[in-house]
Amino acid sequence: MGYFFDFHLHSCLSPCGDNEMTPYNIANMAALAGYDIIALSDHNTTRNCPAIVKAAAEADIVAIPGMELTTMEEVHVLCLLPDLEAAAELDRIVYQQLPPIGNDPEIFGHQWVMDEADHVLAEEERLLTSATGIGLYDVAELLRSLGGVALPAHIDRPSFALIANLGFYDPQMGFSAAEISRQCERPQFAAEHPELSGLPYLIDSDAHDLTAIPDAAYQLELSEPTAQAVIDIIREGQLLGRL
Ligand SMILES: [Zn+2]
Ligand SMILES: [Zn+2]
Repeated sequence: MGYFFDFHLHSCLSPCGDNEMTPYNIANMAALAGYDIIALSDHNTTRNCPAIVKAAAEADIVAIPGMELTTMEEVHVLCLLPDLEAAAELDRIVYQQLPPIGNDPEIFGHQWVMDEADHVLAEEERLLTSATGIGLYDVAELLRSLGGVALPAHIDRPSFALIANLGFYDPQMGFSAAEISRQCERPQFAAEHPELSGLPYLIDSDAHDLTAIPDAAYQLELSEPTAQAVIDIIREGQLLGRL
């Protein structure tokens, strides 16, 4: 069965995420926009995942835990986890690899941890957008060890993206698929990057504010709307198509 999805959404815990991107608001806006299954993928943290999972269930959609990890090469990698325990473990590992640089809310924005009813539980003080000490050749294996899956995020973009930052793609990095942005001119991008030929792709919004959550447009065939089913088809490459 086909399920409308968006696996790349930022909450108010990301410094660049709008303060209105609360777990409750995201879940209900996504439901209104027609999504069946979403993932929260804040920068280098999963601490708002418990809230989004509950808020989504109350809005009659499914949310799965995620993270947008920044590698030491400053490449963004979309990480999806099978459950909240694995998400908490990834959070612990990544936080240890995050430089102890404080966030300045006046410049970068607040980093709020919330519950499903949008109560602020904590404000994260360490800047979450910094590069971690985790390298591009290690992130796919790290996610595999946690039962999850990793994809280079918005691989067509000119910054914080694998091709732009590295200048090449190496299958040895171990990714089974890539994410492309909604704005990507796919035929042109694929023609310019024959090294990516055959790589399965997903398309997500990377929304940082509520108005940037677009109407649902892309569907995946899933056996059931669960994190495990999503991780399985990403590993198998049964996605929207191939570059
Ligand atoms: Zn990104
Ligand atoms: Zn993002």
